[in-house]
Amino acid sequence: RRGWIEVVVGSMFSGKTEELIRRLNRAKIARQRVEIFKPALDTRYHVEDVVSHNATSIRSTPITFPQEMLLLASNCDVVGIDEAQFFDASLVEVCNQLANHGVRVIVAGLDMDYLGQPFGPMPALLAVAEYVTKVHAVCVRCGDIATYSFRKAASAEQVLLGETDSYEARCRHCFLEGQQEK
Ligand code: ADP
Ligand code: MG
Repeated sequence: RRGWIEVVVGSMFSGKTEELIRRLNRAKIARQRVEIFKPALDTRYHVEDVVSHNATSIRSTPITFPQEMLLLASNCDVVGIDEAQFFDASLVEVCNQLANHGVRVIVAGLDMDYLGQPFGPMPALLAVAEYVTKVHAVCVRCGDIATYSFRKAASAEQVLLGETDSYEARCRHCFLEGQQEK
């Protein structure tokens, strides 16, 4: 059995969770043993489920440290990880270890934070992955392809859990305009 790493990145509302759930459901249809993990701090919709903005969901295990996956996923064919940007740099080594041991690892997460800066372990993960998919949202201001998560709220924390009330998907142009208005 050969393992590898797939990464799905994009802004908020770009369909990362939808795409992750799609791939995992297909693996289940193929009778693969699948486990899904997410950071314990992400409790926006549900403590245990991974839920997309269009309300599809899949049961997951909330964890605090990436190392927990090495124990919990020992018998898996496929491991899915959502909101991966919230984990620390050890996520990269753990994903490599899982893949080296024959697991197909599918990671979804934000590539950029609300300032347009690379987010947490995602850049390093993109570097080591065999397959990289960048999905796009629709800019809520002009309808172009959106790659940025624009924060409407004033907080300067890198982690501010929120929804359409605090963030909107924007293209490069409308993101820059919004930053200048702040
Ligand atoms: P992500 O995990 O990347 O935040 P989800 O998979 O949870 O995204 O949600 C994707 C869904 O969000 C889309 O299928 C669509 O129904 C909805 N959506 C809401 N706002 C937007 C937007 N601005 N652009 C694209 N999709 C949007
Ligand atoms: Mg998501």
